[in-house]
Amino acid sequence: MRLLPQLFANNRAWAAQQTRGDPQFFERLCAIQRPDHLWIGCADSRVPANEIVGLAPGELFVHRNVANIVRPDDRNCLSVVQYAVDVLRISHIIVCGHYRCGGIQAAFGPATTEPLEGWIAHVRAVRAAHAAELDALPDDAARWQRLCELNVTAQVRIVCGLAPVVQAWERGQPLAVHGWIYDLKDGLLRDLEVSVGTAPA
Ligand SMILES: [Zn+2]
Repeated sequence: MRLLPQLFANNRAWAAQQTRGDPQFFERLCAIQRPDHLWIGCADSRVPANEIVGLAPGELFVHRNVANIVRPDDRNCLSVVQYAVDVLRISHIIVCGHYRCGGIQAAFGPATTEPLEGWIAHVRAVRAAHAAELDALPDDAARWQRLCELNVTAQVRIVCGLAPVVQAWERGQPLAVHGWIYDLKDGLLRDLEVSVGTAPA
């Protein structure tokens, strides 16, 4: 018995839809992967990377985790960045957070269990670094929203210090790193205007 039959049915319908107007769609994808953007976003199910920026399969290299964190000791994320920059030669790295992020909210709460607590500790550090600004905000909702933004900015800075990114800039490879935030309320992205580097639009 096949488990989750609805998902397989959805998949067959999707594959048929892809080839309806473009019979070579999958053939082309098999032949080459040439995305120009790396997306580092939250694992949240409400933030589907490809869909919200209107990019098709093959056009966006994606890494997602809880609270869109880039830890310099995370071999998973670092491998994605290295492959994206050195092999795929992508031009843009987008760190995209989102408002109402549960991972960010957890950084305001009591310690949870491992391994999640060790992961959230990274967001707690961002919170601590901006304690004065956050404490001055009128309420918890405003603090939560602001920490979602501050966390993106902190991750952009970390990406800019990663070896593959630094080396790309040293050899003159066009590469820009951006910080964006997604609003679940209206489905819109906002550029936090913390971009570093230059690359063709
Ligand atoms: Zn999230």
